[in-house]
Amino acid sequence: MSVTTADAPTAQLTRQDRCDRCGAQAYVRATLATAGGGDLLFCGHHFRAHEAKLVGAGAQILDERHLIDA
Ligand SMILES: [Zn+2]
Repeated sequence: MSVTTADAPTAQLTRQDRCDRCGAQAYVRATLATAGGGDLLFCGHHFRAHEAKLVGAGAQILDERHLIDA
């Protein structure tokens, strides 16, 4: 049994994390509690586009948009 800490819900996003929609650096991770759900990564733009639906689905949101220093 191995524990991959990178998958822990509290793990922070890194430069290697990319928006699933456009490939930009991801600043928000949504973790779905559904069976086999997994994580979705979004840039700020695409998270805003999907935020209502994700929250409505009960996703756990890790929002690191405050780290955007564009
Ligand atoms: Zn995007």
